[in-house]
Amino acid sequence: MSCLFCRIAGGEVPSNKVYEDDRVYAFHDIDPQAPVHVLIIPKTHIAGTDELCADNVDVVAHIYALVPQIAKQLGLQKGYRVVTNCGEDGNQTVPHLHFHLLGGRALSWPPG
Ligand code: AMP
Ligand code: ZN
Repeated sequence: MSCLFCRIAGGEVPSNKVYEDDRVYAFHDIDPQAPVHVLIIPKTHIAGTDELCADNVDVVAHIYALVPQIAKQLGLQKGYRVVTNCGEDGNQTVPHLHFHLLGGRALSWPPG
């Protein structure tokens, strides 16, 4: 069985869509940590940043090229943060590469 985010990207699990094209799907996080909290994912299954390599990294550039457009669409004129957690210490809970786009309030730094 495919992973949760593969099923979300495929429409088998409902989500609140923000953006979609042939390679990328973006949707609102179910447990938002900021007024705007969106997840941007590749439609192909990549477990996380540890699985990135020269053969599959193009989609990451594509995702980052979309960030300004999605941020503008969501009204994040004052700024935002893009975060990817990796592995146990990184607190990754869903093993499908995703980029958190957070904004709508001043975000603290450094993270906990
Ligand atoms: P991470 O902990 O970095 O792996 O991020 C996983 C994120 O997925 C968390 O912020 C969760 O709230 C979010 N999440 C889990 N299940 C769903 C879902 N069904 N729809 C939307 N977001 C989800
Ligand atoms: Zn997946």
